[in-house]
Amino acid sequence: MIITIDGPSGVGKSTVSKSVARKLGFTYLDTGAMYRAVALRVKRDSIDINDDKGLESLLNHTEIGFGRKENGDLVIMLNNEDVTDKIRTPEVSRLSSDVATKRAVRIKLVHLQQEMGKIGNMVAEGRDMGTYVFPDAAFKFYLDASLDERARRRREQLSQSGDDADVESVKNEIIKRDAQDMERSESPLHPAINAVIIDTTNLSSDEVTDRIIKEVQG
Ligand code: C5P
Repeated sequence: MIITIDGPSGVGKSTVSKSVARKLGFTYLDTGAMYRAVALRVKRDSIDINDDKGLESLLNHTEIGFGRKENGDLVIMLNNEDVTDKIRTPEVSRLSSDVATKRAVRIKLVHLQQEMGKIGNMVAEGRDMGTYVFPDAAFKFYLDASLDERARRRREQLSQSGDDADVESVKNEIIKRDAQDMERSESPLHPAINAVIIDTTNLSSDEVTDRIIKEVQG
């Protein structure tokens, strides 16, 4: 069974998706981390993402996968290197949204995601899980929240990792990234027709998790 959880930046998808997966004993698939890993590779190699040949060649030499640390925590691997912490910088966030507009990148990652989905019970989190990658998913959710609340949540997340960005610049980043994610021609972000839309503005992540679990368990 596949459960998809989509939505804009800073809405709290990761926290909720992880805890839904844990409660149901499902595998958690963080597809944003995959776009971030490609972005990190692009940054390191100083590739111009508008250079189709250069991007194609970089993708041919890029292996992305997931692993686990000894303590059980999930990690994202880029060519056998654990890049879990390195993909969470504001620069990689920006660049991930840029690389996600590129067809060649999406073809490669969507293929990988669909292969991963074949292993069975999974909570797949991203922007196009219910609309494009897993159109036949058993349950589809789309999380939303006000811009102010999303900026507050993202800022809190950043400050936990030692980055004290001000709320206005976080808000501007979110506005830019959402616009690009919603307006791109390749699988733009929007709710699937049959998705359950949850406005999480006034809900805690536990409350959102419970809503999803209730829906799934009937
Ligand atoms: O969810 P996260 O913020 O980690 O995603 C980073 C970026 O990757 C998003 O801004 C979006 O552009 C892209 N993305 C995507 N499709 C997905 C997941 C993420 O285009 N399924």
